[in-house]
Amino acid sequence: MLRLQYSFISILALETATCPRCNQPVNSQVVTCPYCRTQLKAYGHPGIPLHRANGSEYLCNSCTYHADDSCNFPQRPYAQECTLYENFQERELELQQQIQAKSFGVSFRKWVQQNQAWLWLLGLLLICLAIALSSS
Ligand code: SF4
Ligand SMILES: [Zn+2]
Repeated sequence: MLRLQYSFISILALETATCPRCNQPVNSQVVTCPYCRTQLKAYGHPGIPLHRANGSEYLCNSCTYHADDSCNFPQRPYAQECTLYENFQERELELQQQIQAKSFGVSFRKWVQQNQAWLWLLGLLLICLAIALSSS
C-alpha cells in the first residue's frame, strides 16, 4: 500500500507543463519556473494556476467570462495574467463532448428499452448455451 502511494505521488510529481516565457518543461506543481523565475502559480500556492497571455495579447479576448459578460475583475478586458481565465473554445469543445456523451447514453437507453424482449431472449439463450457446454 505504501509503495502504491509512493508511485502515485511520483507520477503526480512527474507531470510536466511548459513555462509560457522560456518554454522549458517544468514540473506542473512548481510555483516559479526554475529556469527564468517566472511566477507560474498565484499566491505561491501550487493549486492556483496563474494564466498568462502570449506576447501582447489579452487573455480576456478568449475567455469564457468575457464572452458571457460575467467577469467583473478590474483588469478586464486587458488582463495579461489571470487566475480565473477559462478558454472559450476549450469550454465549448468540452460542452459539446458532454452533450454528445449524454445523447449517446440517452439513445442507448432508448434502444435497450425498445429491444428489451430480444435482449432477454438472447440472455436466456446464452445461459442455456453455457449450461449445455458445461454439462457436455
Ligand atoms: S476572468 Fe480574467 S481573463 Fe477572463 S475576462 Fe475576467 S479578467 Fe479577463
Ligand atoms: Zn521559464
